[in-house]
Amino acid sequence: MTLITQDLSRFGYQPLTVAAKLLKAYAQARWASNADQLGEEVALVFNTHSGLVFLSDGEFNAAVLNDTGVLENWLACSICGAEGLRSEVNFFDDVTCQTCAEQEAQSLTNT
Ligand SMILES: [Zn+2]
Repeated sequence: MTLITQDLSRFGYQPLTVAAKLLKAYAQARWASNADQLGEEVALVFNTHSGLVFLSDGEFNAAVLNDTGVLENWLACSICGAEGLRSEVNFFDDVTCQTCAEQEAQSLTNT
């Protein structure tokens, strides 16, 4: 069974309500910061397992509505899997958390 769907008929009422808010914020370009953004091939995505509705672009960047109702990137560390809103996590770049970046830098200087 697919957990991730773009099929609106599978969203249900609550996820569709969130989707409508996401689209409105996206249409009005209401972003939390200048760093938050999506590229091309943006789609509405629903994770039927977690219940999370978000926007995703062709490079798997994700954006969700934060508590203040504006769009913010959801970052995930490609090394340790830590994830969260850009404003709530300490990331070195969009795909590496600060901790993993420092460990990488450390292992480079040790060798
Ligand atoms: Zn990490």
